[in-house]
Amino acid sequence: MPDVPLNELVELDRRHVWHPYGPMPGRQEPLVVASASGVRLRLADGSGELVDGMSSWWSAIHGYNHPVLNEAVRGQLGRMSHVMFGGLTHEPAVTLAKRLVDMSPDGLEHVFLTDSGSVSVEVAVKMCLQYWRSLGRPEKRRMLTWRGGYHGDTWQPMSVCDPEGGMHELWQGVLPRQVFADAPPATYEETYADHLRELIERHADELAAVIVEPVVQGAGGMRFHSPAYLRVLREACDAHDVLLVFDEIATGFGRTGALFAADHASVTPDVMCVGKALTGGYLTLAATLCTAGVADGISRGEVPVLAHGPTFMGNPLAAAVAGASIDLLLGQDWQGEVKRIEAGLREGLAEAEELPGVRDVRVLGAIGVVQLDHPVDMAAATRATVREGVWVRPFRDLIYTMPPFITGDEDVARIARAVCAAAREG
Ligand SMILES: *Cc1c(COP(=O)(O)O)cnc(C)c1O
Repeated sequence: MPDVPLNELVELDRRHVWHPYGPMPGRQEPLVVASASGVRLRLADGSGELVDGMSSWWSAIHGYNHPVLNEAVRGQLGRMSHVMFGGLTHEPAVTLAKRLVDMSPDGLEHVFLTDSGSVSVEVAVKMCLQYWRSLGRPEKRRMLTWRGGYHGDTWQPMSVCDPEGGMHELWQGVLPRQVFADAPPATYEETYADHLRELIERHADELAAVIVEPVVQGAGGMRFHSPAYLRVLREACDAHDVLLVFDEIATGFGRTGALFAADHASVTPDVMCVGKALTGGYLTLAATLCTAGVADGISRGEVPVLAHGPTFMGNPLAAAVAGASIDLLLGQDWQGEVKRIEAGLREGLAEAEELPGVRDVRVLGAIGVVQLDHPVDMAAATRATVREGVWVRPFRDLIYTMPPFITGDEDVARIARAVCAAAREG
């Protein structure tokens, strides 16, 4: 139990603490979590536990309070929790970088560690713009993306989020103006591939890079698309001297059924961002990987360095737990677990297809989505899922889940039941 009485805690929270995409003061009462273990969040009000259907936004793939991850943090804590990365280095960061290079698509060789996904996208954009500057083509400084995307909340990432209906509409006219293709269709259509090719060719002289979320668009609308489009992008980018960036912050580390979504198409991007599940949900850490070609181009410029260096770059605690999380993932049949959850979600969410007000039900890897034909009534949907003993957090017209990979069959079924209840009542 917290030292501060619960009602006081909630009131202080409402008055002083911003929450994601929230107003100030807060209008909705957040649930207070006292602890978390396995796939369960224990509520501070004594009302019990909720099965976590969100993995704390894609990150807690091994669940909470995991003995191996706890030990990785504890062991590192006894050595050093932090040391600056300028002029110094350490084993956790170096071995993490090596693991990332080994497991990511062939050709990605260099790793820039950052403290959040958004910053890793900032670094990716900076890499691409600086690459062309270094090669004497500074006019190549725009980004192309497709609609329906989400790449984070800082400035450059916001500029490549979906410009309409997304969360960043407010900033139109202030953000850098990027080039937008239509949102990718679920299945392969040659006319859409032509649309991508045409747009890349038309803007090639001013484009530094194309940036997309491969296969699954997350917070921009939970849409899935054919991996074949990744090959179309790779070929068009190569043909027109444009770099290709994959934002795998949500999709990385097995979530879609492949280690990285790029693997579904056997495509190597020039630059790749990872984050979210990188530390198994323990600490904030992300990374931007690039090819030798990109690093070499940057290094040949008038300013031959990448001028970026966060204070907490390569944080040893975060790097140590990330290394342990990756070992834990690769040391098990993660693909089997993701397939098992996929099958459970498919079965459990099928009944939502028949519900009035449901527009679409889709499942890919350990991701399940029910899309309504109207905006979700958040209060009613949350009441329904909490009543079922499950935590999910809908947005817009979407009720969705991406459970930890350790979620057992009964809990997957329970999550699916809760999502269906939310679809009925939200
Ligand atoms: C969450 C997310 C980001 C932003 O990461 P933060 O760690 O929240 O800054 C960027 N891109 C994608 C695809 C994401 O899902």
